[in-house]
Parts: sequence; structure tokens; C-alpha cells
Amino acid sequence: MDAAALDRRYVWHPFTPLDEWEAPGFRPVVVAEGRGAVLIDEAGREYLDGNSSIWTNLHGHGHPKLVAAVREQAGRLAHASYLGLAHEPGARLAEALCHAFGFEDGRVFYSDDGSTAIEAALKIVFQYFQQNGAPERTRFVSLGGGYHGDTVGAMSAGQSAGFHETFGPLLFKSEGVPSPGCYRCPFNQAKPEKGDARAYRKCHWECVGEVEKKLAEVGAQTAAFVAEPRVQGAAGMIMHPHGYLEKVAPLVRAAGAKLIVDEVLTGFGRTGTMSACADEGVRPDLAALAKGLTGGLLPMGATLVREEIVAGFRGGFDRTFFHGHSYTGNPLGCAAALANLAIFEEEGTLSRIALGGAVLEEAARAFWELPQTGDIRREGMILAIELVRDRTTREPFRSEERVAHRIGEIARGKGLLTRGLNGTLFLLPPYCATREELVRMVSVLRDAAEEYFRSRG
Ligand code: PLP
Repeated sequence: MDAAALDRRYVWHPFTPLDEWEAPGFRPVVVAEGRGAVLIDEAGREYLDGNSSIWTNLHGHGHPKLVAAVREQAGRLAHASYLGLAHEPGARLAEALCHAFGFEDGRVFYSDDGSTAIEAALKIVFQYFQQNGAPERTRFVSLGGGYHGDTVGAMSAGQSAGFHETFGPLLFKSEGVPSPGCYRCPFNQAKPEKGDARAYRKCHWECVGEVEKKLAEVGAQTAAFVAEPRVQGAAGMIMHPHGYLEKVAPLVRAAGAKLIVDEVLTGFGRTGTMSACADEGVRPDLAALAKGLTGGLLPMGATLVREEIVAGFRGGFDRTFFHGHSYTGNPLGCAAALANLAIFEEEGTLSRIALGGAVLEEAARAFWELPQTGDIRREGMILAIELVRDRTTREPFRSEERVAHRIGEIARGKGLLTRGLNGTLFLLPPYCATREELVRMVSVLRDAAEEYFRSRG
């Protein structure tokens, strides 16, 4: 059997309907190589990696400095347990992360991916209050549509019914507040669609008022407010008005709760700055990092924690944080992550993101020619195009129509890999993508959308 046949027989893929994978005649793309913004399949066919391999890749596939760092580390030490041992790449990376993300006073707790980085954050805050005089603080408040991963705690902290509804009875209850995305804001129409001058009602930050109300209700029992800063990825690349978190953070603080930011997607330049919340002047109590942490080479998560919380774990054996994983602090991941941060400095990555983002935005204007385009939004190198049944009423497509999925399938046939959600198309290219590659990604996606709507009639 070749790789495709073996895969179809033996592998169970994430977020993938089995019926479709097993359908007669279906053959998956078998990727064999990656170079820059391009993935190459076993037959030598090239695909632009329009979603950076589910938002992980930053500087391109096969970046020589990242490859060399991992190779060099593997030759010395691939892994040793972090339970009771230290190593140089882990120590150096912790220092570098604390500086890069404004946690100079804090510490880093390593884990394996985004879900486990969030899981650690939730448990740290929970235990902190349990053993520091506020055991009633057991609740978490999070944004509508918030997605923090698929482990049980991460699912519980999120509000992602579409993905997690089945597991409802298994989850602890968390409190939701409305997502502050302007396009579907229930309070006003602060950002009307192109060409429609109706309904400009001034925004009164009702979304912040909702947080205030919720905290008035449950603030005294709240352990933490959990939020993806600025962009909620898996909710549909919902982008927040600038200043939202800046307004919410003091409310959380006044309620005596902690602020956990989930920078799993937004960290490492994805929204244009190293940290999305630092750009708003927000000083979170904990931050979860993963995805881009290793530049897209290896699975790894990190939870950054302020000293004030860490201090709550001193004072005896019974105050220990009994939590961890076999591969916590894996030296290969640490070496990749250190090389990743060095590339940001050496190659002026943040300036490159600013240029790349502008190219995406300019190219995306062509989408307005498509009558189904309802909203085009961009932050850094995240572009989202929300397609709707009716531009004026903003009536969405039904999720069962799987519009973005179908358009993604057509785009794949044209040499572009990307994965949107419901009716929203996403492009999150590697930062190394050239102007030509970025323009091509947008135009292939537009052609695919046009072809899809033509086929619907
Ligand atoms: N948090 C956010 C904001 C994410 O977008 C994701 C994944 O998409 C996660 C957490 C979970 O990360 P992982 O898939 O690495 O467990």
C-alpha cells in the first residue's frame, strides 16, 4: 500500500469526517516537503500554505536556522525529564519569553500545545485561589465563541458550542460574555458594509458594559477572565475593536479576578506585534503561548505567570503545583523556539509582517466584486473574508452548507491550502511569503469562491 492508502486504512485525522476521508475515490494530498510558503506533495505538486499549517508556521518551511538549531540540539540532548532536572535551552527560552512578552517579573510553565498551555493556566489560577484565602473563586468568564483548545478544561473555559456541544455534560460551567466583534455586534452597526451608509449609530462600548454586568453578578466567585486578545481565531477570525481589552482589564482587576490571555494564535507577530495584548497596554496575569512558539517546527506550549501568583505556591510541599507532562520543556522545542525569537531580531520579521499585511489587505479589495462578500477584516497577517447570503441584511450562510470548506476544496485544486469556517474564508500566510505569493493566495481564493457560487447557480 502507498502512503495515501495506508493513511486511509490506519489513521484517524483531527476535525475530519470519516465518511469523507473513506469515500470511494478520495485521495488525500500527501505532503512530502516544505520550502518557504510552499508545501510540495509526493508527486511534486506545489501548494501555497495559506494557513501556515493551522497557524503554526512563521518564517517558512525548512528555514535553515530553525532546522540547524533542532539538528544541533538533537545531536546533544533530545529529551530529559523536566521533573527535577534543568537544561540550558529551557532556561534561556524562559528568560527570552519573559522579556519578549512583558513578564520580566514572572516565570514560564512549559507544556505541549495550546490546549495544555491553557489547561495549566486555568489550574494554576484555580489552585492559587484555593490556597490563598479565596476558595470561593472557582468560576471562569470567557468571550462568546471563545476557543481555547479541545482538552476538557480548555473546552470548558471556551464558549465554542459548534465544536464542543457534544461534550456539554462533561464540562465545568463557565460564564460567557458577548464577543466584541463589530460586524455582528448586536448593539449597533458601528462598521457598516461597503457602500451602505445606513445605521451608523455611535458605539457606546456596550460589549464592555456586558462584561461589567457579568462581573457584578459573578465577580466575587470569579477566578479569571479568559480571552483571546484582539482576534478570536476559531470563532471565525472575529476581530475586536482596538481598546476593548484595555477597557476590560481594569474591570477584571477591580473584581479581584485574574486575566488570562490566550495568545496561542495571536502571539509571535500574527496580529503585527509580538503580543496582541501588550499592544493595547494590557498587563495580563497569565498568558498562554503555543503554535508559533517553535516557528511551526515542534509541538510546545508555555504559560507565562506573574510572580504575585507564583508566590502563592511557596510555603510548603502541599502548595506545589502537581501538574505536568512527560515531554514538558522538551529541549528540541526550546532550541527551535530560541531560534524562532532570534529570527525575529535578525530578519526584521515584524516589519515584514506590516508589509505583508498591507499587501493582503490591498489584494483582498477585489473580493468586494463578489456580491456575497459581507465583511473583509485584517489584523497583521490574518485576513478574513466573511461571505453572506445577503450583504445588506448580513444574513449568514448556514453552517451545514460548509461554504468555506467547499471553497477551500476548490482552492486546493488550484494550488492553495487554506481552511476557513462556516461562511468565513481565512488567509494566515507564513510571514516569509513574497508579495507575489500573497497576491496569488488572495486571487486563487477569490477565483475559488467565484467558481463555487457559479456552481450553486
Ligand atoms: N487557543 C487558541 C486561541 C487556538 O486558536 C487554539 C487552536 O487553534 C488553541 C488554543 C489550542 O491549541 P492546540 O491546537 O495547539 O492545542
